[in-house]
Amino acid sequence: PKYESVALVIGVTGIVGNSLAEILPLSDTPGGPWKVYGVARRPRPAWNADHPIEYIQCDISDSDETQSKLSQLTDVTHIFYVTWSNRPTEAENCEINGKMFRNVLNAVIPNAVDLRHVCLQTGRKHYLGPFELYGKVAHKPPFSEDLPRLDVPNFYYTLEDILFEEAEKKEGLTWSVHRPGNIFGFSPYSMMNLIGTLCVYATICKHEGVPMRFPGVKGAWEGYSDASDADLIAEHQIWASVDPYAKNEVFNCSNGDVFKWMHLWKVFGELFEVECGDFEGEGLCLVDLMKDKGPVWDEIVKVNGLAPTKLEDVAIWWFVDMVLGIECPLDTMNKSKEHGFLGFRNSKSSLITWIDRMKGYKIVP
Ligand code: NAD
Repeated sequence: PKYESVALVIGVTGIVGNSLAEILPLSDTPGGPWKVYGVARRPRPAWNADHPIEYIQCDISDSDETQSKLSQLTDVTHIFYVTWSNRPTEAENCEINGKMFRNVLNAVIPNAVDLRHVCLQTGRKHYLGPFELYGKVAHKPPFSEDLPRLDVPNFYYTLEDILFEEAEKKEGLTWSVHRPGNIFGFSPYSMMNLIGTLCVYATICKHEGVPMRFPGVKGAWEGYSDASDADLIAEHQIWASVDPYAKNEVFNCSNGDVFKWMHLWKVFGELFEVECGDFEGEGLCLVDLMKDKGPVWDEIVKVNGLAPTKLEDVAIWWFVDMVLGIECPLDTMNKSKEHGFLGFRNSKSSLITWIDRMKGYKIVP
């Protein structure tokens, strides 16, 4: 077939990468028909294998490997950069993430003559500061895209600067930056998967016959939160890839509604038939509550005939503690709407969809 566009998705087994791999090849996707290359570090997992894409196993932190594998992809027209690496300090994050992004751009830009657009996914930490300074340096929400950078190191700033510099150098190359908040999506390989982790938590509580206690602060339980659906983020990136009015712009990306965790907690209670805990006071955290549950998880996988997973891959306890440890600072979608992106999600329906996906792929019973 004759392709209109050729995507290179970096991080194709991640929480947004997996949605891009599903949506880009569809016949009615804007800019299509799309040919899709997808890059990830590990061998292709079964839950990603149905997407009609060309899978490339490549460690993009390795300059030589990236050069040799990605320089051959001379037909790429669009890059979707949806990956990252997590190191103990933000200085190290800036270094490794900058290197990974440069490795990809250095391999693709000189060889892909028709390269037109690069989508870079960063996130709301642009306004909040890095994890090590979480909440200490943040702007006042709701966050809008024109807020100045915080005066602290942030690997998102490093990535943006590399993008701006490269786009400046290559005539006709456009870019967009996408800043989601907490993502609701599906990927048993994601380094930050809120819903997946809560599904595993609910399953362990059910197995042990204990209530699903809420590990967070009062502001997270009864205050307003928002989320960013992974399919919506993919649609937002595809929109920016094809719409001339969205070029060379930075956009927040969230569902467009608000919810309270006290209500969503009940959804887990119902769908996992587990007693739903009430807010008990602050100080509970999953890192402590779920310590040493590896063998329990192995047992759950065995007795329920689940897809084989390791607890450390599917349960990112620290991330849930981090998300529920603060009252969610909201963003605004005004700029996206003003530029013509009217997509949205109902966050409760989104949650149910991703829980169904977790069950459908037998990651949880
Ligand atoms: P993810 O952790 O879900 O997926 C990462 C993907 O990159 C996986 O496919 C993994 O295999 C691949 N990968 C990791 N290291 C690699 C390497 N060295 N070589 C090749 N592939 C490699 O990713 P994500 O959560 O979508 O993160 C992308 C960006 O989005 C990050 O900047 C993150 O901070 C941001 N973000 C994430 C969330 C969230 O809730 N997950 C929320 C807001 C912002």
